[in-house]
Amino acid sequence: MYIDGAFVEALDGRRFAVTDPATGEEIGTVPDATAADATRAVEAADRAFASWSTTTVDERADLLLAAWRLMQERTDELARLMTREQGKPLRAARNEVVYAADFLRWFAEEARRIEGGWLPSSRPDQRFVALRVPVGVVGAITPWNYPISMLTRKLGPALAAGCTVVLKPAEATPLCARAVMEIFDEVGVPPGVVNCVTASDPAPIGEVLTGDRRVRKLTFTGSTAVGRLLASKAAANLQRISVELGGHAPFIVFPDADPVRAAKGAAALKFLNSGQACISPNRLYVHRESAEAFAATLCERVGRVKAGVGTGEGVTVGPLIDEAAVAKVAAQVDDARAKGARVPVGGHRLVDGEFARGHFYAPTVVLDVTDDMVIRREETFGPVAPVIVYDDVDTVIDAANDTDYGLAAYVYTRDLSTAIRAVEGLRFGIIGVNDVNPTAARVPFGGMKDSGLGREGGHEGLDEYLETKVAGIAL
Ligand code: NAD
Repeated sequence: MYIDGAFVEALDGRRFAVTDPATGEEIGTVPDATAADATRAVEAADRAFASWSTTTVDERADLLLAAWRLMQERTDELARLMTREQGKPLRAARNEVVYAADFLRWFAEEARRIEGGWLPSSRPDQRFVALRVPVGVVGAITPWNYPISMLTRKLGPALAAGCTVVLKPAEATPLCARAVMEIFDEVGVPPGVVNCVTASDPAPIGEVLTGDRRVRKLTFTGSTAVGRLLASKAAANLQRISVELGGHAPFIVFPDADPVRAAKGAAALKFLNSGQACISPNRLYVHRESAEAFAATLCERVGRVKAGVGTGEGVTVGPLIDEAAVAKVAAQVDDARAKGARVPVGGHRLVDGEFARGHFYAPTVVLDVTDDMVIRREETFGPVAPVIVYDDVDTVIDAANDTDYGLAAYVYTRDLSTAIRAVEGLRFGIIGVNDVNPTAARVPFGGMKDSGLGREGGHEGLDEYLETKVAGIAL
């Protein structure tokens, strides 16, 4: 753990093991925090806030830029660690490190643009000044699927704003979090500004981060169920919150789109991170006219996807994070099959040979998906592409919106009006138009409805960590 500028053990000395999801091997152990350790971290963050919040924006920006540079220099090392700890193929891990580092650079730049305002009054003898000030100590809780970028997306803006942070990374990926702490430590971020507590049981740490009055904001990325629970606890304490939660992204192929191009896009996007991404397409709506061509290309592409240990040559799909994840995917596919879906590619666990000790599910295509199937309603978080054939162009947006989630959506069309109508009609926070990567550090990322509150990245990402203060000045 990293508390008050030092790498420390848990107060009671306990540690827990971290395993490689591809091989089941233990790859290290980390301190196992209790509430007492989290409180210690909050104390450190609270002490550091007074001085950190009064540093100049240039000092903070320079430290973030130094961290950005160091993270980039360590891309290979961090990617190898990520592949072992989280499972994603090396190339994807490298891409994530670059994406993660980009948040540090973006928020270093944004730090210099924290501006207030000089506001007119209706009284001739009065002026108003508006200032933007940091919210205070931030509690940050992050998931395992993007174990470095989900950290920098929170730590970058928090530090840029002048906040101090207590981070609790996911129990499956604490080593990546430790590696990020090493970077902040080495570039000279002052003690207490960033703290990290690793724990096998997250609940007591969550209690401290939502219950301690010194923590003024909670930022969480993870499942909707846990986000809702933590948001309700934070509400009791009137903490500011941002919660980035689950998704159930529709991917709509309009009849005028090139079905081959769309299928290639779907195949490329769906299997990133083994489908364990909040913006992964979970429902592929394909018009009946192009369904056959789409399915043929999709099946051909997915049939060629190589699953395996993430360091293996040519591997593009790694393991799932744990056995529960495999069981969830298998249950969704089995349910669809039992209700009449066809499964022309995959549709089973991978258990032989190199797969024997890991958590693997075969890259899968499910055709003829209907509304009564679980996969139509629930986030899959696995390497399964479910195809729904539709007939009515006028109602497909309604069908896509028929979900409690509202994070990402994708549309394929060559018609400008169709694209604009779709962007306007879809109730989702992020929309790709003929594009499988509609995210970047410089644009706001976040969802509607059960997908969350608040935005990360972009200008909005910094606003989440700032309060507005106004001074009325009598002349
Ligand atoms: P999760 O909710 O199980 O865990 C997320 C984090 O919350 C982990 O650090 C975990 O230890 C912690 N946690 C769990 N229970 C807690 C409790 N009672 N108190 C305090 N902390 C607790 O989610 P996950 O399985 O790690 O992540 C997958 C989910 O995250 C998916 O639903 C995915 O869509 C979502 N996600 C969303 C985004 C986004 O930006 N919207 C990004 C990545 C992942």
